[in-house]
Amino acid sequence: MALLRALVCCLVAAGLGRPGLGMPLAPAGGPSPAPTAGQFWHVTDLHLDPTYHITDDHTKVCASSKGANASNPGPFGDVLCDSPYDLILSAFDFIKNSGQEASFMIWTGDSPPHVPVHELSTEKVINVIANMTATIQNLFPNRQVFPALGNHDYWPQDQLPVVTSRVYNAVADLWEPWLDEEALHTLRKGGFYSQKVSPNLKLRIISLNTNLYYGPNIMTLNKTDPADQFEWLENTLNISQQNNEKVYIIAHIPVGYLPYSGGTMAMREFYNEKLIEIFRKYGDIIAGQFYGHTHRDSIMVLSDTKGSPINSLFVAPAVTPVKSVLQKQTNNPGIRLFQYDPHDYKLLDMLQYYLNLTDANLKGESNWELEYVLTQTYNIEDLQPKSLYGLAKQFATPGNEQFMKYYKYFFVSYDSSVICDGKCKAYQICAILSLDHISYKDCLRQHYIKHHP
Ligand SMILES: [Zn+2]
Ligand SMILES: [Zn+2]
Repeated sequence: MALLRALVCCLVAAGLGRPGLGMPLAPAGGPSPAPTAGQFWHVTDLHLDPTYHITDDHTKVCASSKGANASNPGPFGDVLCDSPYDLILSAFDFIKNSGQEASFMIWTGDSPPHVPVHELSTEKVINVIANMTATIQNLFPNRQVFPALGNHDYWPQDQLPVVTSRVYNAVADLWEPWLDEEALHTLRKGGFYSQKVSPNLKLRIISLNTNLYYGPNIMTLNKTDPADQFEWLENTLNISQQNNEKVYIIAHIPVGYLPYSGGTMAMREFYNEKLIEIFRKYGDIIAGQFYGHTHRDSIMVLSDTKGSPINSLFVAPAVTPVKSVLQKQTNNPGIRLFQYDPHDYKLLDMLQYYLNLTDANLKGESNWELEYVLTQTYNIEDLQPKSLYGLAKQFATPGNEQFMKYYKYFFVSYDSSVICDGKCKAYQICAILSLDHISYKDCLRQHYIKHHP
């Protein structure tokens, strides 16, 4: 039944969205031979809570609610809890049965639950990552997966080290079926790697360990180039450029500013500015950037120092729906599919899928469905930097309806009545358009302070 539903859903999705792999992108009867789109999945922030179980005492449903009453716990989870295994399985089952052919999957980290440090250990963290890896490998024995480490994929959380560690070694062993010798070597050393998507393609994945740049990581305090990752990144991009490759950057913690709080970068400013400098230098070979960590759905556009858009960045929403007791909003569980031109790896479109958690719990069935298709919902040509830049400029106009949609999707349609204007909107717009300190200050001046002295 679930399988049938997934198929029906995806037939609907295929009708609404761009066609999948092997189907022409251009309208039938068009003049030029139609190219076919390549596709890949992006999943992030699974945050499995192995303690999740339904019980009458709502303070005991999950360790991740930290003693708070779960709000409305059901088989697929609760907004005060991290993911039950069944929620994660439903997401991967949906991917498997979606009918969408994808050539690979990116998985940008954070598998363990949000619980106090003393409730986890190195063993427990490795066990959770091993569980998630086995789940993916069992369901997709032949699919290439490119993982990145998250700040929760370590114990104590956030403290990812600049030298080899038990966790780096353990994940290298677990991910050995997916990665080549050279990738495993740097993964063991510093938690990062690069690898071509397949030996005969001119597309390379660079998986960065941006957790080294995360504010709470005391292992990297006062270090200018933790684990020599910047040096390695520049070398890797340089060689890629010489070999005429294109690159997709994947990492857990994004560059740029948090869209929901004014003036806060996702990582330490020094490291952010360094990364931005490198990404600008190699903007012409970086065909896309993909992140997680915020648990929200957002876009960013990197511009060069003259203000021209050169890179598109995508932050994917989490599978976990967890929020703290104090937060009003959270996200529904989400996963996404990207479409790219297989000739130059340019990003063409993105299909965002989600699970309405309330409905799923009520029905006792997981009906993952298409939330939106990026080009269609915003009426843009493709996912190129110029297109997204134009869209963000539209968002900025007063009362813009496209922006209202964007803000609804930011929470993966968790609450459609949310309103964001004034300061809230300026923070969102500037987080999309300005990824470095100088341009962000300019942006806030332009979009908020000017109108609200
Ligand atoms: Zn997370
Ligand atoms: Zn995180």
